[in-house]
Amino acid sequence: MEYFKFRRKHLYCEDVKVKDLADKYGTPLYVYSYRNILGRFNQLKKEFSRIRALICYSAKANSNLSVLKALIKEGAGLDIVSGGELYRAKRCGCPAKKIVYASVGKIEEEIKEAVNSGILMFNVESVPELERINHLAQKLKRKARVAIRINPDISPGTHKYITTGKKETKFGVEIDTAKRIFLNRNKYKSIVFSGIHIHIGSQITELAPFVKAIKKVNRLIGQLKEDNVRLEYLNIGGGLGIDYGIRPAKTAKEFAGAVMPLLKGTGLKIILEPGRFITGNAGILVSKVIYLKENSAKKFVVVDAAMNDFIRPSLYGAAHRIIPVRLRAMSHDLKAKQADVVGPVCESGDFLGKNVKISVGQGDYLAVLDTGAYGYSMASNYNSRLKPAEVLVKNNKAYLVTERQSYQDLVRKEIII
Ligand code: PLP
Repeated sequence: MEYFKFRRKHLYCEDVKVKDLADKYGTPLYVYSYRNILGRFNQLKKEFSRIRALICYSAKANSNLSVLKALIKEGAGLDIVSGGELYRAKRCGCPAKKIVYASVGKIEEEIKEAVNSGILMFNVESVPELERINHLAQKLKRKARVAIRINPDISPGTHKYITTGKKETKFGVEIDTAKRIFLNRNKYKSIVFSGIHIHIGSQITELAPFVKAIKKVNRLIGQLKEDNVRLEYLNIGGGLGIDYGIRPAKTAKEFAGAVMPLLKGTGLKIILEPGRFITGNAGILVSKVIYLKENSAKKFVVVDAAMNDFIRPSLYGAAHRIIPVRLRAMSHDLKAKQADVVGPVCESGDFLGKNVKISVGQGDYLAVLDTGAYGYSMASNYNSRLKPAEVLVKNNKAYLVTERQSYQDLVRKEIII
C-alpha cells in the first residue's frame, strides 16, 4: 500500500497521521488516499491509451461522491447498476455519454431515467429487459443504445459469490441467445445495438480467464460481422484483482499485455469497468479496541467496527491484514499470539479477522487494510449501528467526505403508528 506507510512508528495516509484522524473524526472510520485512487486509475489509463479505451469506474466498489468526482475529473466514466448510482453519477457531473448501466433487474423508473438522461448504453442482461427498454424508449420517443451482456460460461477462479460469467449465475445471456437477438435486431425499433459486454467476476488474479472470455466473444463478433451486424463497442467489464497481502495480483501492464492484442483486432471501441482495482488498496478501516478477552479456547480483540461496517470477511471469508496504527513494543497489555478481531454485532459471523497475529491494548487503534472497495458501499445499519464516517486524504490535508450517521439518521424514514 504505497500511500499508507509507517513513519516513526505511526501509520500515515499520504502525509497525515492516521491516529490524528481517528482522534478527530472518531471510529470506525474509513480513510482513503486520493493520490492512490488516481494513481491506480492512471495506471490503467496509460496502459490502454493506445486504443483510447473508455474507463468506466464501477461505482459500486466505492460510490462516495468525492471519490467519483475525483475520478470523473481525471477522465473516467462510470459503470452503474441502479437508479441510485445514476443519481450519484449525475450529482458529481459525470457526462451521460460516459455512463454504462448493467444489472439484471432494472425497473421501469430506472430505465426511463437512464433513457431520458441519454446514457452511453445499457448493458442488457435478458430478452424481457431488452423488450422493456425498447417499449419504454418508444413511449419516450427516444432511442436507447444497448450492449448485450454475454455470459461466456468461463470460470474466473474466484469466490462463488463474485463469479458472474458462469452459466449457472444470473448474469447476461448465452452466446446463442445473443446471436438471435442481434439477428432479430430490426424487431426493436427504439434500440440502437451498440455493442457487446462481458463481466466474468471480481477479484480475478489470473489473466487466463479474461483471455478465454475475450476470445469467446471475439468469435461471436466475427460471426456477427459476417451477418452484417455492425457494432461499435466491446466492453470487457471489470474484475481485475488486487493484492490483499496474501496472493499477488496482476498489474495494469500485465493485464493490458494479455488482453490488448485480442482487442485491437476487433476494430471496436473498448470499455473497461474496473472497480476494486482502482479503490481497493486505496483505503483502510480504522477501529478502536474496546476490550481484550479470552477463554480457554481463544483470544479475542473486540473492536468498535463490525460486519455492518465491513462485510467482506463475514460474507466471503475474505482475509484482510489488520495492523495497529501505532507500532508498540511486544511487552504491551496483550501479547496475543493469535486473536480473532471481532465486532460488537450479535452474530458469530461478525469478525474482521481470524487468528490475527497482533499486539494491542485496550483503546488502541487498528487498521484493516485494503478496504477501499466494497467497504463502505456495502455497509448497513444492522444492529441499529450507525454507518461510519469517510475521510479522503490529499497530501497533508484530510477532508471529511461522509459524516458519521446520527441516531436521528437511523430512524429518519420510520413511522411510529
Ligand atoms: N462491472 C460489472 C457489471 C460488475 O458487476 C462489477 C462488479 O461486480 C464490476 C464491473 C466491477 O468489478 P471489480 O470491482 O471486480 O472490478
